[in-house]
Amino acid sequence: MNKEFLFELLKARGVSGDETPVGKVVYEYMKQYADQVDVDVVGNVTATINPGVPFKVMLAGHSDEIGLRVTHFEEGGFIRVSPVGGIYVISYPGHKVRIDTAKGPVYGAVVIDRSIMSDANMGADKIQIDIGASTEEEARAAVSVGDPVTFDTDYRELLGDRVTSRAFDDRIGVFVVMEALKLAKEQGAVIGVSATATVGEEVNGCGAFFAASNVKPAIAIAVDVTFATDSPHTDPARSGQVKLGGGPVLSKGPGIPKAVNECIEASAAALDIKLQYEVSGGWTHTDGDTMTKTNAGVPFTVISIPLRYMHSPAEVLSLSDVEKTIELLAGFLCDLSSEMNFKPFG
Ligand SMILES: [Zn+2]
Repeated sequence: MNKEFLFELLKARGVSGDETPVGKVVYEYMKQYADQVDVDVVGNVTATINPGVPFKVMLAGHSDEIGLRVTHFEEGGFIRVSPVGGIYVISYPGHKVRIDTAKGPVYGAVVIDRSIMSDANMGADKIQIDIGASTEEEARAAVSVGDPVTFDTDYRELLGDRVTSRAFDDRIGVFVVMEALKLAKEQGAVIGVSATATVGEEVNGCGAFFAASNVKPAIAIAVDVTFATDSPHTDPARSGQVKLGGGPVLSKGPGIPKAVNECIEASAAALDIKLQYEVSGGWTHTDGDTMTKTNAGVPFTVISIPLRYMHSPAEVLSLSDVEKTIELLAGFLCDLSSEMNFKPFG
């Protein structure tokens, strides 16, 4: 596993709509390993092996992350924002943030006081950023309306093989699909495979729609993160027990053909990789939901990496889950043949 590539992905900023820095990291890295790397008009980066083979599998990990966007400047130089994606407002006060402007990054502190911290229902409209400006004019000169804001946090390696960072959702998915494509090529996969770092998953899924409409895969697999249930205040009864270090998590749900999951299970068994399961009652809230609705309909499934503290500045995962997921996907891609039938019967 190339941790350097992973850490480059985590350092890059990619609030939905501003994923280009992440896309560039993927593009430069995958040029060395894929047969072809393409960028489309919305910024999806797709790496492909065996491009001439008509039977194609598409893997998707989303390059975008949740965050904020600058909306307004106040007297005194404070900056107001609106949310991008499903943020926890309460995770912002007292935190350092980074605003990516056309002229480069500008750093700030999010206003905090006792009244803010006692307001359990605080809205994103209450978030104010102090960039060190004394006047509205000074702030306006440094930052523009629409500039994206992220937590100014770094990844850190924790005990064992655990790592904390912002934006593991879903930079880890991007990492996994690209590393799986590399490994499948090394292991001699003969089918066509496209791995896409999609844009916009946290807000509208448009990236996955553009990409899958273009790739026209026979099967699509979204690689995302899911809630680990082995940390405090979690409930395994909600959608299944998921442990850090317990292995890749396969989704079961009404839109997911059982035959696709059975193929993944067979590959996992052959590689002696333990799977965990989660259940979605309807949509999976991943790029899988979007990819399945392209062309004449695409059979899909979702494979997730267990993650603690999702959508926070300090998400935590285990690298063994990441490694196992890469191995599993590469094995699956090598086991597949274009004669496979994914119908439930007949
Ligand atoms: Zn995600």
